[in-house]
Amino acid sequence: MNPTDKNCTSDADPSALSMQEALNKILALCSQTECTEVIDVMTAMHRVSAADIVADISVPPFRSSAMDGYAFKHAEGKAALNIVGSSLAGHPYTGDIPANGCVRITTGACVPDDTDTVVMQENTTVSSAVLQINTLPVHGFNVRAVGSDHSAGSLLLCSGTTLKAPEIALLVSHGINKVTVRKPLTVSVISTGDELHDANTTPGAKLKLGGIYDSNRALLINMLQSPAVQCIDSGICEDSIDSISAAFAQSDNADIVISTGGVSVGDADFVKDALAQTGELAMWKIAMKPGRPLTFGKLNSGAVFFGLPGNPVSAAVTCLFFVKPALRYMQGQALNDIITIEATVDSDLRKLPGRIEYQRGVLSGNAADGYEVSTTGLQDSHVLSSLHKANCFVELPLDSQGANAGSTVTVIPFSAIGDNLI
Ligand code: AMP
Ligand code: MG
Repeated sequence: MNPTDKNCTSDADPSALSMQEALNKILALCSQTECTEVIDVMTAMHRVSAADIVADISVPPFRSSAMDGYAFKHAEGKAALNIVGSSLAGHPYTGDIPANGCVRITTGACVPDDTDTVVMQENTTVSSAVLQINTLPVHGFNVRAVGSDHSAGSLLLCSGTTLKAPEIALLVSHGINKVTVRKPLTVSVISTGDELHDANTTPGAKLKLGGIYDSNRALLINMLQSPAVQCIDSGICEDSIDSISAAFAQSDNADIVISTGGVSVGDADFVKDALAQTGELAMWKIAMKPGRPLTFGKLNSGAVFFGLPGNPVSAAVTCLFFVKPALRYMQGQALNDIITIEATVDSDLRKLPGRIEYQRGVLSGNAADGYEVSTTGLQDSHVLSSLHKANCFVELPLDSQGANAGSTVTVIPFSAIGDNLI
C-alpha cells in the first residue's frame, strides 16, 4: 500500500495483534533454561548468573579511612594530639593509642579501634609530631563502616543478573572467583528463498538475474552475538516444504530456531506448512511496521521457533522486539524497559493509521538544549542502509498519520535496545 494513494487511508487489520499481545503469547511458550555451568568469574562477561549469590564477607572487611589524614578520638579533637604511629593501606597500626594520641592514616587503611574519626591532612597543622586540627570534622567523618558496600550474609547478585564489569568486580571484591551461569542458548539461524545466494560461495558480482545475497543470516547472527548465545549458521533453504523441514530437523539441538522469509501468503511461502507438520504453530499479524507477519511456535524437538519476515529491516525489528526478549526470558533475565526520549523532528514523516511504525532516524542534541531527529530517507523494509545510517527508531503511534516537521516525536535510541546495532 502506498500512503500517497488517495484510496488507501488505513493500514489497520482487525485480526492483527498488538506488539504486547504478541510478546505475551511468545513468552507464555518459552521456558527458562535449566542448564548451568560453573565458570571462572574472569570469563563471565555478558553471561547470566543462574543462582542468587550471597556475600560471605563484608566489604569493606574492616573500618577503613576515606582520606589521607589522621585518625583520632572525636572527643579529644580540640586538643593538641600526639602522633603515635601510622596506619597505612595494607599495614594496620596494632599498638595502643594513649589519651590525646592519634595516628597518621592513608586512604583504605584500617582505622584503629581506639579512634572514631579521620581528619583530612589539609585541615591540620603538624609540628614535632604534634597534630593540631584546624577544622574539626563531625564525629565518624571519613570512616567507612564495615560492610558499607555489602555486608556478609546479604544478597550480592540475584539469579538472572547479566554479568558485566561492575558485577564481575563486585564478585571479585568479595573473594568470589567462580560463578554459576546459564549455559549459552543455542540459536539456529536459517534463511529461506530461491533468490538467495551466499556471499561466501558466490562472491563478487556473480549474481544471476533475480538473485540477491542473503543478508539476514549475517544481520541476525551478529545482532544476537553474545557470550550468552551461541548462534549456528544453518544456511539457506530453497522455497519448498521439504527443504525447510529438513533444516528444522537439522536444528534439533537448538534451543531456538529462527528462519527468515516465506511467512507471508505468497506462492512461495512454505514456512508455516513445514511447521504445521513439525510442531505447535501460530501465525499472527502484528499491528506494526515493519514486520507485520510473524510465525511463532515450537518444534517437536522442543525448540522455540520464530519465522521472521524476509525483508531485512523487518527481520531486524522483529528480532529486537520479540526474539531478544524471548532470549532474555529464557536466560532468566528481567526484560529491559525500553527507554524512550522526546525529540523534535526536522521534516514531515508520513504513515498510514493502523500500525505502530518504527522509522529509522538520526538523533542529535542533548538534554539541556533538546534533541532533534531527522529521517534516514526511504523507509521501505528492504532498505538495509536505513539501519546503517540510523542511531534510533522514531516510534510513530498506531493511529497517527505521521508527524509534521517541528513536532515532538518519541524516539528509541539504539543504545537503549540493542548493543549490537551500534
Ligand atoms: P518473503 O517473505 O520470502 O517473500 O521475502 C520478502 C522479501 O525479503 C523479498 O524481497 C526477499 O527477496 C527478501 N528476503 C528474504 N530473505 C532474505 C534474506 N535472507 N536476505 C535478504 N533479503 C531477503
Ligand atoms: Mg521468500
